[in-house]
Amino acid sequence: MEANAKGKMLIFTAPSGAGKTTIVRHLLQNFDELAFSVSATNRPMREGETDGESYHFLSTEEFMQRVENDEFIEYEEVYPGRYYGTLHSEVDRIWATGRAIVFDIEVKGATNLKKFYPNESLAVFINPPSSDVLFQRLRDRSTETEDELRVRIARAAEELTYVNSFDRVLINDDLQVAFVEAEDIVEDFLGSVK
Ligand code: ADP
Ligand code: 5GP
Repeated sequence: MEANAKGKMLIFTAPSGAGKTTIVRHLLQNFDELAFSVSATNRPMREGETDGESYHFLSTEEFMQRVENDEFIEYEEVYPGRYYGTLHSEVDRIWATGRAIVFDIEVKGATNLKKFYPNESLAVFINPPSSDVLFQRLRDRSTETEDELRVRIARAAEELTYVNSFDRVLINDDLQVAFVEAEDIVEDFLGSVK
């Protein structure tokens, strides 16, 4: 496949539970021109996650040290006491390989990245079919305690209001349909010829 991936970034954003991780994983498996920006966080690792692949898992002290050192393009306290941030080093590392960067990031971070890289980026909001479906998916994922789930649902409701704040909206109802639409968005953006 010929593509023009160098110096580009694709930002996937949505409320927690909308399907960012699922869609981003699918794209990474199908496009060699894409590479995932591994964020840093101080949240605990979930089952099935790998340090350095899903996230750089840091202690709160290590995270704050990196903030002090100006190592983040952006970072947010997404949930009380839980920090997530995009490292300058990730952007440099991936662009040096000639690939386009893929982000899985919440709405405020996505807005900041878009401001930082207005010409290089395409930001896609993944919209669930309804808020009820979204909350049910979060519950079914079973990765949070009841308390954490309540916090996520409250935040997700607010994040849904950002639906029209980005370049594209991708509806994630039927997953196979969403996969195909996501592939089309990538091909369009990279200007690729299969
Ligand atoms: P996010 O990364 O946005 O928090 P995930 O990709 O983890 O979301 O998806 C949340 C949950 O919903 C996961 O358990 C995932 O398997 C499931 N899921 C994602 N997309 C769909 C879909 N279209 N239909 C049904 N379940 C889905
Ligand atoms: P999770 O704990 O489910 O992996 O992620 C929680 C939220 O943090 C998700 O919406 C995810 O997209 C977001 N997130 C992940 N990495 C970053 C990042 O580097 N910066 C910001 N602002 N949010 C991030």
